[in-house]
Amino acid sequence: MQLSESKNSIIDSHCHIVFSNFNEDREKVAARWRAQGVKALLHACVEPSEIPAIKSMADQFQEMRYSVGVHPLDVHHWGPDTVNVLKNAALDDNRVVAIGELGLDLFKAENLSEQLSILMPQLHLAFELNLPVIVHCRDAAKEMLEVFSKLSEAGRCPKGVMHCWSGNVKEMRGFLDLGFFISFSGNVTFKNAIDIHECAKEVPHTRFLVETDSPFLSPVPHRGKRNEPSFVKHVVDKISDIRGESFSEIAQKNNSKCKRIVCVALNITIASS
Ligand SMILES: [Zn+2]
Repeated sequence: MQLSESKNSIIDSHCHIVFSNFNEDREKVAARWRAQGVKALLHACVEPSEIPAIKSMADQFQEMRYSVGVHPLDVHHWGPDTVNVLKNAALDDNRVVAIGELGLDLFKAENLSEQLSILMPQLHLAFELNLPVIVHCRDAAKEMLEVFSKLSEAGRCPKGVMHCWSGNVKEMRGFLDLGFFISFSGNVTFKNAIDIHECAKEVPHTRFLVETDSPFLSPVPHRGKRNEPSFVKHVVDKISDIRGESFSEIAQKNNSKCKRIVCVALNITIASS
């Protein structure tokens, strides 16, 4: 299939349209992202029971690709067979382009060892399947860097993207050094997000993505409301301001990056127009 790409087209590299707060108006939400130039979306997964619904959403919206995985705050959804469920889902559908979202969250939870026990098998799976990982990392950069550094030393670290980046420049450099991409979401538009602004300025243009994380973290001027993929333009606008680059420069750079980590693996051709 071909996803068309125009000068100002954007890829939302992380969203959760499967959530029930889109049940009433999903078609209208899709019409708005199409009108706004969002040409492709990567749908993230927080636990395996979502997979059938996400899959049928990818049938409904042809510009959607998706990941399979278990979020660090969903450890209770992990069972002895989960890694096989994820593996089979990934092998079964070539629209599965990543494993995740996975990671560590020490902001909302303290069960580090439990989180690690579901993180490691997912990282091994991603490496085995040669798929990128979508990483959720909140208040856990040190621990996450340790995990990736060890895997990297062993030559078994998957590639991937740090989604909804909320760390500082020093932490970001650690992940960049390990080959990771940095994805900025609505929180880059928040006035007091000084560290994130600094990161958006410092990140090499070859290494960042944009996302909405819909329905969470609506960008200004929609802050506090339900987020949706069409709002990704506000994230691009803010990064344009911070970097002093035009919207289309950012959008095009973003597309080429996203193509590389997300699309290339899955023989999606994005045609230039
Ligand atoms: Zn997410």
